[in-house]
Amino acid sequence: MLIETLSVFPELFEPYMSTSIMGRARARGLFDFAAYDLRDWTHDRHRTVDDAPFGGGAGMLMKVEPLHEAIRDISSRGEGRPRVVFFTPCGEPFTQEVAVRLSACDRLLFVCGRYEGMDERAYDFADERLSIGDYVLTGGELPALVVSDAVIRLIPGALGNDMGSVDESFSTADDGGLLEYAQYTRPADFNGSSVPDVLLSGDHARVAAWRRSNAIERTCRWRPDLIDTARLSDDERRRALELIERFHAVDAACDGEAFDE
Ligand code: SAM
Repeated sequence: MLIETLSVFPELFEPYMSTSIMGRARARGLFDFAAYDLRDWTHDRHRTVDDAPFGGGAGMLMKVEPLHEAIRDISSRGEGRPRVVFFTPCGEPFTQEVAVRLSACDRLLFVCGRYEGMDERAYDFADERLSIGDYVLTGGELPALVVSDAVIRLIPGALGNDMGSVDESFSTADDGGLLEYAQYTRPADFNGSSVPDVLLSGDHARVAAWRRSNAIERTCRWRPDLIDTARLSDDERRRALELIERFHAVDAACDGEAFDE
């Protein structure tokens, strides 16, 4: 896989892409990476990539011409056309499912905005638009790194063991899209807070049952929206709905207490 980025701050990527799991996977040839500077496709003395919005308003917008030229040039290099992904808070929400889909691509070009965003016509060159969440960052470089990380760790061998990403949160492989269960390491007792006995029992079936039950409980507590689409048995779904109601009641009682104060 080849991952390329187009932005006005190409220097932001290299440290992350050459460190830890990303760095090792890249060194082992599991993916290649290149960061392009959008200013290399400008033709004026000041290497201008932005301009004021028609109709007025605060801030500047990224101009369409350098983006057009850059994407055309980069796409025509090398083998195969890249899938061109633009980052914007107005895009499709990025999820683990999208990461899995992108991990099947041979070549990805991530286009990062800055300023108040882009001339709307630039999105004509996008195969898709992604948002990494309902908040606004100053630029698309962090979203590009977030998506790169999530995609690269799905490349077989990138984590050093191919089972690493299978039963994590949001994985649809085994757990049907639940949050991951709680995990513990030594010491078994920390300041009086002890690890659930079952995890020390050595009984694999009981450990698996506890983890499943704990994953459902945590999902009900922190992300009840995921329960709708999670793969659950009838019994598990009944229990999940009861738990969600119970958590709602506890939250409502706590809000009331805070209000009373
Ligand atoms: N004016 C834009 C709006 O309200 O939608 C926000 C522009 S933001 C300050 C500048 C750039 O940061 C965007 O063009 C985009 O590339 C990136 N960006 C900011 N927040 C993002 C998010 N949540 N997801 C993806 N990209 C984001």
